[in-house]
Amino acid sequence: MADRRDALARARGLVARHAPPRVAILGCGFTGAAAAIALVEAARGPLAITIVDRDRSRGGGLAFGRAPAGELLKVRARDLSILSGRPGDFAGWMACLTGAETDPAERAAIADGFAPRALFANYVRRRLDEAAAARDEVSLERLEREALDIAPAPGGGYAVALDQGPALQAQAVILATGYDAPRPRFGRCPHAPIPAQALARARRVALVGSGLTMVDVLPRLRAEGCEAEVTVISRRGLVPRPHAETAVRPPALQVPAGARLAELVRDLRAACGRAEAEGRPWQGEVNRLRPHAQAIWQALSEADRARFLRHLRPFWDAHRHRLPPAQHARLAAELARPRTRLRPGRVLEAVGEAPCRLRVVWRGARTPETLGVDIAIDCSGHRPELAAPLPASLAAQGLAAPDPSGLGLRVAADGRLWSPRGGDLSGLFALGPLGQGSLFEITAVPEIVRQAAQAAATLGDLLAMPGRMTGRAAV
Ligand SMILES: Cc1cc2nc3c(=O)[nH]c(=O)nc-3n(C[C@H](O)[C@H](O)[C@H](O)COP(=O)(O)OP(=O)(O)OC[C@H]3O[C@@H](n4cnc5c(N)ncnc54)[C@H](O)[C@@H]3O)c2cc1C
Repeated sequence: MADRRDALARARGLVARHAPPRVAILGCGFTGAAAAIALVEAARGPLAITIVDRDRSRGGGLAFGRAPAGELLKVRARDLSILSGRPGDFAGWMACLTGAETDPAERAAIADGFAPRALFANYVRRRLDEAAAARDEVSLERLEREALDIAPAPGGGYAVALDQGPALQAQAVILATGYDAPRPRFGRCPHAPIPAQALARARRVALVGSGLTMVDVLPRLRAEGCEAEVTVISRRGLVPRPHAETAVRPPALQVPAGARLAELVRDLRAACGRAEAEGRPWQGEVNRLRPHAQAIWQALSEADRARFLRHLRPFWDAHRHRLPPAQHARLAAELARPRTRLRPGRVLEAVGEAPCRLRVVWRGARTPETLGVDIAIDCSGHRPELAAPLPASLAAQGLAAPDPSGLGLRVAADGRLWSPRGGDLSGLFALGPLGQGSLFEITAVPEIVRQAAQAAATLGDLLAMPGRMTGRAAV
């Protein structure tokens, strides 16, 4: 009997020694799905991938998985893909789905169109399922659990504590927890349904923020029968601008190395002005800058970054995060009606949700006023929750730190976390919106996919040479 136990223990040891390295991905929104697919594609040998998500999101996440039926993506299908190096993949998938793959005109119409967000979530799920089955030596399992904590494991790697069952052991951990559970600061969460009675009774509604979230919430309220007087409040009173009528992809811009913020702004404004004067869409000039946005952001001084966030961000957001032309026209029509007002002002605080009292300093005024409304909805945008258990625990252990602007965790371009403990950083990544403070342009699909591919390549190196798992990321 004892011999048998010894043999079993020896066999288990052998299995453990030869078990493939494991990467844990925490969060299965778009970022987690992109990371998993990139890891499958880049794996140089046997690899076990475990994706942990507390809900059944499976690749949709906040942006796509919970989208109400009929809400459209704000970018053309041609610009969306979860596969690195295959930019037209979503449009191609849609063309196959609708039987249009052999008709060039129909294909072009699909690529230039704005598809439903829920359809994009289906596409992501399909590609994730395909990746799971793509390679025999790479396994991909999903756990419906909440990850509570990450700590270095005594024998190397990490132990991820879960809300149920034993801790998950992994050589490397990718945080892809995105926006976590949005915690509204000014009234109600924009994604929470409002009871029909409350909406019908409401006489005054405030939407705090005038960006893409407001653009979804306002028509949703009207469609659900809200006849209230709606006040949209934002710092500058700017709303997203429209995309050009047809896709514009001019060649990438040559950005002078070490350019200062003031020069960059001056050059961009001049380029947009020139384009308009020559009858070209100004949108092309913003598109030309986008591939360089991360490098530009990283090269800015801390003072310039703070200046940008304080003064220029509303202008950048309105021109960079644009709307389909038809949606922009509907928004303009709604804002032109007397029942809807767009007012520049800064909301200092909100007390209550429904009813709600907002303290607002209207632009041009010095002292705050109180605005009482039946319902207030926080449309001020999504940001990673650094006080959530995982980022907070990593920071408390010295394994991660917030970036100086407080927008996210400090990361390298490939998502490796910067550790204030220095030399002992290893195998810990934070991808997607969590790195917004370090990289700024890292919340949209193309940048997330590119970063996921970079992270997979870095992980390939680290896992091939475990000694390098202790290397410090250059951030
Ligand atoms: C409403 C909206 C619309 C957008 N539309 C577009 C668009 O049209 N085009 C574009 O390019 N970009 C768009 N974006 C931006 C972009 O696609 C998102 O930034 C991206 O989807 C972020 O995905 P994520 O997986 O990082 O985060 P999330 O979607 O927030 O997903 C995070 C996942 O992690 C899970 N999670 C969190 N904490 C834990 C934990 N402790 N344990 C287990 N699981 C956890 C959550 O359950 C969730 O499923 C949009 C964003 C939003 C919010």
